[in-house]
Amino acid sequence: PFDVLVIGGGPSGASAAVYAARKGIRTGIVAERFGGQIMDTVGIENFISVKYTEGPKLAASLEEHVKEYDIDVMNLQRAKRLEKKDLIEVELESGAVLKSKAVILSTGARWRNVGVPGEAEFKNKGVAYCPHCDGPLFEGKDVAVIGGGNSGIEAAIDLAGIVKHVTVIEFAPELKADSVLQERLNSLPNVTVIKNAQTKEITGTDKVNGITYIDRATEEEHHVELQGVFVQIGLVPSTEWLGDTVERTRIGEIVVDKRGATSLPGVFAAGDCTDSAYKQIIISMGSGATAALGAFDYLIRN
Ligand code: FAD
Repeated sequence: PFDVLVIGGGPSGASAAVYAARKGIRTGIVAERFGGQIMDTVGIENFISVKYTEGPKLAASLEEHVKEYDIDVMNLQRAKRLEKKDLIEVELESGAVLKSKAVILSTGARWRNVGVPGEAEFKNKGVAYCPHCDGPLFEGKDVAVIGGGNSGIEAAIDLAGIVKHVTVIEFAPELKADSVLQERLNSLPNVTVIKNAQTKEITGTDKVNGITYIDRATEEEHHVELQGVFVQIGLVPSTEWLGDTVERTRIGEIVVDKRGATSLPGVFAAGDCTDSAYKQIIISMGSGATAALGAFDYLIRN
């Protein structure tokens, strides 16, 4: 059996595996797609100490670092079930069952898509999901934020300080964000809020040049010219396969303590699949290190 088995090969999983292996314990890592979300990222400018890199390049560095150690890498394998017996068992889609004394869950998350024409075509060509990451790329330009919940309104406030103008598009007749956020938003001169509006299409040629929405009250169609669209309708953690084995929040994030421990002894979690307040590469790597050290502490006590 493994001492530590990491499920997920993004930044948090790679970090956890390296930290575990450096303790000289038997470490494995299972990943559906090694690299995780960064495989879909173009420019990365906030991975501190590296001024600029690109997602696939960072993923290759993660893999190279992992391969420096005696880590059993099982790529293109998806975990489908976890169960605690004497050891913790993880069953893969392939039918294989892996056993480990401790497990670190680092299965990450995915942004919820609006699913309108243009979204997929213009991803990284004006369609963005992370204001902390891509906001500065739109300096002086006009952008839209789709979604009027807390993350949408936080994004709009953040972007208003960087870009020329922000149009917020909310499907419901009212914004769902906390009232303090709405008040702050209303105090900004360069923000327009459009409620009761259904996004129909993100338009463009080689990159985004506008957004079309339908006013749900009048059924009239409108078009706004702009250069960027931030989709902020939720980040979905990839944790459905865990069921009730570990405690999860209402939106499915794994609840962890300050050592990365979940509600099930011996099972730890890190990165975007957890209830961490912010989701970023540098944060997920830090939490991967925390979970590995937490798992090591657990192993020497059990
Ligand atoms: P992920 O990167 O989501 O990795 C999850 C891993 O788990 C993957 O290997 C996946 O295949 C695997 N997995 C999932 N389910 C299973 C399963 N059942 N069995 C086995 N494996 C499984 N952050 C920044 O700091 N700077 C940026 O500039 C930046 N830009 C971004 C741009 C885009 C387009 C996106 C989508 C995200 C961006 N982020 C950025 C956020 C950053 O990518 C994430 O915070 C980070 O990747 C989280 O790492 P993670 O390891 O927790 O999860």
